[in-house]
Amino acid sequence: MTTMRFGGRTFSNGDLPSAVLSELSPRGVHGTSGRSRAYLRKDAARSWNRAIRQVRSETGLDLTVRGWNRSRAEQELFFFQRYRRGASSPFRDYRFYRGVKYGRVSGAAAAVPGFSNHGWGLAVDVNDFGGVGEFGNARRVKAYPILKTYGWTETEGRRVSEPWHLVYDPAADRAKGGGKPRVTKAPRRKPTRPPTIKRRSRQRAWVALWREFLTAEKGSDPGTGTAFDGTLHDATTQWQKRHDLEPDGIVGPKTWYTATSGVRTGSRGSAVQIAQRIGGLRGSAVDGVAGSVFASRWKQIQRWLGVEADAVIGPKTVAALIAKG
Ligand SMILES: [Zn+2]
Repeated sequence: MTTMRFGGRTFSNGDLPSAVLSELSPRGVHGTSGRSRAYLRKDAARSWNRAIRQVRSETGLDLTVRGWNRSRAEQELFFFQRYRRGASSPFRDYRFYRGVKYGRVSGAAAAVPGFSNHGWGLAVDVNDFGGVGEFGNARRVKAYPILKTYGWTETEGRRVSEPWHLVYDPAADRAKGGGKPRVTKAPRRKPTRPPTIKRRSRQRAWVALWREFLTAEKGSDPGTGTAFDGTLHDATTQWQKRHDLEPDGIVGPKTWYTATSGVRTGSRGSAVQIAQRIGGLRGSAVDGVAGSVFASRWKQIQRWLGVEADAVIGPKTVAALIAKG
């Protein structure tokens, strides 16, 4: 059993004396009920209270928690709800507690009692920060960069796919000793809205790009040439039908955005060129190869859209583009 020293006292996990704890603000709005009082080790509580004030002033979000300091008994309760002695685990998650093997039978992973950062009064579980694995949750995407500057780390939460679980690391707290840390805001970029092209459109470059894109698509025959002709129109409606878009043969932002679906760093082809143009690139930078410039542009766009900045144009990014782009 390890112990910790803080504030001139020594204590063990799950057994923090009230003298080293402070309450989280606002008082009495925490827990799943929204009426509990929450406590952390004094330095973590002070940092959290400052951090959420800045989150509120910069993003308008009010953060509350449903997990905070956890006694040994609470950790056991939690652990035994999910892990059974000698059980076979459908998650292949086995842990030893007091020399006995336990298998997880339900719920998300939980720390072995005595080893949780909740037991050190250093972890919070934030309300409405996304479900399992949902690190792109819009509230979290807005608030976390600020929390991070106050020493709230996500490494452990990422390891167990829990976006809500944050751990305080005093060494990472840039606001310690008062004052407001500077949040180096990651750059954001509004996507460049592609034009709407249709039969007889004269935007040659975009018409050519759209035809090239359809040529590479399975089951499409967009014909050749430089004009948006009947063949290209028909190929467009068929492609739109296959992608649950209105089959009107008009290539507007929604159709362009859908065409970039699946593009990621390392991709090649005309879908990449479309994504590069939406990313504001022009001329020879539109080369159909998704490299480092593509990645940084698209991460900026994803931040602007409020989705996870991973330079992968997945379903969430496409949906956000259609909604806001
Ligand atoms: Zn937690």
